[in-house]
Amino acid sequence: MSNNIKSNRLEDTISESDTAQLLSNEEASTSNYTQLNRSVYFQQSDEDELTGSHGIRRRQPVQKFKPGSMNILSAKYESLDYDTCENHLLLDEERKRGYAFIIWKDIARWFVILQIGVVTALIAFIIDICIEEFSGIKYKQLKKSVDIFVLEDKLYIPYLLWVLSNICIVFFGSVLVAYIEPVAAGSGIPQVKCYLNGVKVPRVVRIKTLVVKAVGVITAVVGGLAGGKEGPMIHSGSVVAAGISQGKSTTFNKDFNIFHYFREDHEKRDFVSAGAAAGVSAAFGAPIGGVLFSLEEGTSFWNQALTWRTFFGTVVSTFTLNFALSAYHGHPGELSYPGLLNLGKMEPFPFQFYELPVFMLFGAVGGLLGALWNYINYKLAVFRIRYVSAPWLRVVEACLVAATTATCGFLMMFLLNDCRPLGEDPTKNPLQLFCADGEYNALAAIWFQTPEASVRSFLHDPIGSYKPGSLLLFIVCYFLLSTWTFGLAVSSGLFIPNLLTGAAWGRLLAVFIQYMLPNNTINPGKYALVGAAAQLGGVVRMTISLTVIIIETTGQISNALPIIITVVVAKWTGDFFNEGIYDIHIQLAGVPLLAWEPPPLTHTVYASEVMSHPVFTLRTVENVGHMLELLRLVSYNGFPVVDPPLSDEVEVTTYKRLRGLILRSQLIVLLQNKIYNENANTTWSNLNVDMQMFRNEYPRFPSIDELVIEEWEKSCTIDLRPFMNPSPYTLPHRASLPRLFRLFRALGLRHLPIVNDVNEVVGMVTRKDIARYRVWRHRGHMGMEELLLSSE
Ligand code: ATP
Repeated sequence: MSNNIKSNRLEDTISESDTAQLLSNEEASTSNYTQLNRSVYFQQSDEDELTGSHGIRRRQPVQKFKPGSMNILSAKYESLDYDTCENHLLLDEERKRGYAFIIWKDIARWFVILQIGVVTALIAFIIDICIEEFSGIKYKQLKKSVDIFVLEDKLYIPYLLWVLSNICIVFFGSVLVAYIEPVAAGSGIPQVKCYLNGVKVPRVVRIKTLVVKAVGVITAVVGGLAGGKEGPMIHSGSVVAAGISQGKSTTFNKDFNIFHYFREDHEKRDFVSAGAAAGVSAAFGAPIGGVLFSLEEGTSFWNQALTWRTFFGTVVSTFTLNFALSAYHGHPGELSYPGLLNLGKMEPFPFQFYELPVFMLFGAVGGLLGALWNYINYKLAVFRIRYVSAPWLRVVEACLVAATTATCGFLMMFLLNDCRPLGEDPTKNPLQLFCADGEYNALAAIWFQTPEASVRSFLHDPIGSYKPGSLLLFIVCYFLLSTWTFGLAVSSGLFIPNLLTGAAWGRLLAVFIQYMLPNNTINPGKYALVGAAAQLGGVVRMTISLTVIIIETTGQISNALPIIITVVVAKWTGDFFNEGIYDIHIQLAGVPLLAWEPPPLTHTVYASEVMSHPVFTLRTVENVGHMLELLRLVSYNGFPVVDPPLSDEVEVTTYKRLRGLILRSQLIVLLQNKIYNENANTTWSNLNVDMQMFRNEYPRFPSIDELVIEEWEKSCTIDLRPFMNPSPYTLPHRASLPRLFRLFRALGLRHLPIVNDVNEVVGMVTRKDIARYRVWRHRGHMGMEELLLSSE
């Protein structure tokens, strides 16, 4: 055994002498099951942490774990099964249907993608129109009231009106999120990322989530919070994809009896990748960026066919949205609204060779500020998990942020008299406030519009439009507000607020550069755009997709090089301090996400150290009573199917030869339909048992406690051979951790039985066992840590 890592659960590492102690499933009594069940609560604290050789950190198990820990994996997340179960039923189905069915299925796939693109775009359209109309009404009323009361010296009235309107709107959205569907909070990108990685995040792709998300994002943006509608669109696209591709709604208990053949994790996950990409495309008008987002951020399994289909979905999505928005704005033929985020068309900005270091500097500033943003948001998230977890407290917090946002805006408008002549800015609601006639307050223009319109202002307004002091104060305020807002019980994303903060400090640096080089004419829009890319890159740490999204959104490929340089430097700088914000939230939630690569220097960690043992197995022909007992006692989702023992004596002392693997969900369907050998010719026959029986229940299989099993049935038997996966992937117990990791990562496995030299099952490895080994990096140091598994 390697001397540098020791599993918390494997002090009893498997050896020849242990063999005799491992109980077979038939012999394991209730007490044995309980004793062998390894679910343990752990607590992380600095005292528990030991630093071993090779920089590997080990933690000792303790009784409880602190909520908000970064080194706990939660057992509540199940995995998706990307591997096809090639059982007899599937082979029968293939034989019966032939090639015609393959072609039909392929056509259906393209048709589903088309629908996903159209529906995602329509949802984006509705969200956009609602936000634009409601915000228009709100800011028009506020402007009216400011104009009236400023003359009477009663500015507290519009202030109170602003605060109250923000609170009421945000209250509505927050109640929906906190009480009806908490998983709809935030942008949804971390959850989608987990789903695409192969983790089932409960309720993440349900219709209820979509409705709460859509209404929530409208209320968040109209309520004036420092959030955007783009992230939620990615989540919405994923839900649409999951819904349409299954041809049924479990929420409404409605089965349209179509697309049965897509009712499996493998197909569903491919559609969700396309849906997420369609969401990006609708959000930013970036079809290529959408495909790259799915590729870079999430989808672990990618192939050429999926690239084409995803691209088709993104193009359909941006085209539909473009058409709908252009028609809404009164010129249907023009197609000038490719996405929700409209940064306005940027001019190509010429840049000199000597400017490249300046872009790097911007990247470094973005990386530093992004890391700081993530750090503050992480601390706030931990505080929320520990102290603000009750739904009512979360609603109160959201309302408090809404009021603070209005207060910040009001104080800035009131205290900083930054006036500008009317007519230079296309702002819809110019506020005169204390400015002279023919002028308007530049900061009021920024606050009295949606954040997206403010980004546009920073990118396009001429130099000298904002005083440096105003910009600085705005940056500090918006930076803090946006980091406080992400993670509230509201649906909103972080793209726009970070683009806004970045554009503001980019503009500020442009003022500084102009001051240093008075003879050159500086284009502030150029630096605002580079600043926006740097800030967002520093927070989310996306590179390829972010660059392409920004290029597509601004319609200028010639600006690519400065943006690429900036985003890459921002990522490198930020990664020096902490992880991207999505990864931080994923780790806080304890999701067993698999990284792209196995932890380095782990070839000496063997499967025998990683696996769980003894393994709960089932025999090829199994007794119903035993199955029931097993399913009630353990919550595992996969069981190796083994040969029955040759004799009672041998049974107690040896491992059993592997014959296949069966899932809990399959066992439950078999029990539910009473596919007992004893009933084979009376209530069912081989002819009427097919894949459909399992697909009907997908994805919400009943729990074992919901089944009604009579006492007499317990003595019946089920032949598992036609239903199990007869050729599961396996590895020998001497396989290394990187080998296990690659098998899980590349094939999307859920369970991997570990066998000995004669194909007998000696252990079981699941995604959580692999995800427990994680690389840690801190300020230039690197090592590997072993996470702990909680049963919550
Ligand atoms: P998933 O949650 O991904 O659907 P699962 O519920 O079957 O899979 P996990 O929750 O990942 O399993 O497993 C938790 C722990 O239980 C892991 O350490 C794993 O090795 C162990 N385990 C899983 N299945 C078995 C089994 N049949 N016998 C013994 N241990 C098992």
